[in-house]
This record gives sequence, structure tokens and C-alpha cells, in this order.
Amino acid sequence: MDTHFGDGREETDSGHAILLDTSAFIMGYEPSDVDAEHYTVPAVLEELRRDRLSQLRIEAALRTGRLKAFSPESLYVKEAEAAAAELGETDVLSHADKMLLALGLQLKEGGRDPVIVSDDYSVQNVADRLGLRYTSLATRGIRRVFDWAIYCPGCRRVFSGLQPDGACPVCGTALRRRPVRKTPARGRKGSSGPEAAHEGA
Ligand SMILES: [Zn+2]
Repeated sequence: MDTHFGDGREETDSGHAILLDTSAFIMGYEPSDVDAEHYTVPAVLEELRRDRLSQLRIEAALRTGRLKAFSPESLYVKEAEAAAAELGETDVLSHADKMLLALGLQLKEGGRDPVIVSDDYSVQNVADRLGLRYTSLATRGIRRVFDWAIYCPGCRRVFSGLQPDGACPVCGTALRRRPVRKTPARGRKGSSGPEAAHEGA
């Protein structure tokens, strides 16, 4: 059992940190299927304690390190609570919601690129106020939440599609996929957004 608290292990090279709230687990989000670092807070796991299916997914993901659960520092909790109060969302948000938003702030402060996956309008609303990105599973489906980049963990090249044998044609390392920011439908041809620009680096 990995009880490593804190954000010490930075094995991802994309900086993406996907934060999962209670609704994301209930909707069936499977952290083990997505090549990214996932985070949640112990309060979310507590809310899901009686949801057996979520429990199985959570335990598997925690075991493999694909999911980490820890509580944010109180500084960020206060900031999240203040934003919730400004928006009149204080009574609507659960304790777990506030903790998750605070964890998002903490990860962002630490230089990560957090995306909150939540179908809860109030969570999205406060995330927006805090300048945190969020996305919903219910309206878009799990696969469509992110665009996917195929990349080589060896030489860090990025490919537009999976290569024939699933290996990097340059160095032979097995290719992996990672989520990238969903680009808006308009202007997706030709113009490369900021995400595309740093993908090649
Ligand atoms: Zn390579």
C-alpha cells in the first residue's frame, strides 16, 4: 500500500495532473486506462466507500501509483473556500469538493497543469473562478474528454498516430499515449495552439 503523501514523485513528463472528484469515479472514470497522473483527496474516497465498483477501480489505481490521494495544505483550502463563498456555492459544495479544488490549486502552484474531471456544476463553477481547468464526463464521454498524443518516453518525440508496431521508429521504445488539452473545434486546422506548440519540445 502506497502511503506516500505529498507530490514528490514526478514521473510524468507532460505536467498534466488529472483530478478526480466523486462524480468522476461514479461515472466510471478508470485511472488505470489513462496514461497520466491522477489525484484525488481522501475525502472523495470516503464519499465512495460504499460504491463497490468505484472501490475496486480506486484500489487498483492506488496500487499501481496511477492515482494518488492526499489532502491539500490549509492555505489552499482557505482559498477554495473563499472562492466558493464569493460565488454562493459554500453550502452546495461538499467537504470533499472543497478539498479537491484546493488540491487543484496546490498542484497548479507547484507548476503542474491540473484538470479537474467533474460533472458537478458547482465544482466547475468554483474551478472556473479559481482559474482551474475542468472537464465533464457526462456530456462528452470519457474518451472525448481529452485529445491524445502518442509520444515516445525514450526520445520524447511526439507522433500524430500510433506507429505500425507500437514502437518508436527512431529509438524503438514502446510508444505511450497521454492526454493533451482538448482543442476548440474552431481553428483546429493549421493553427497550432499553445498545447501543440509545446508538444514537440
Ligand atoms: Zn523514441
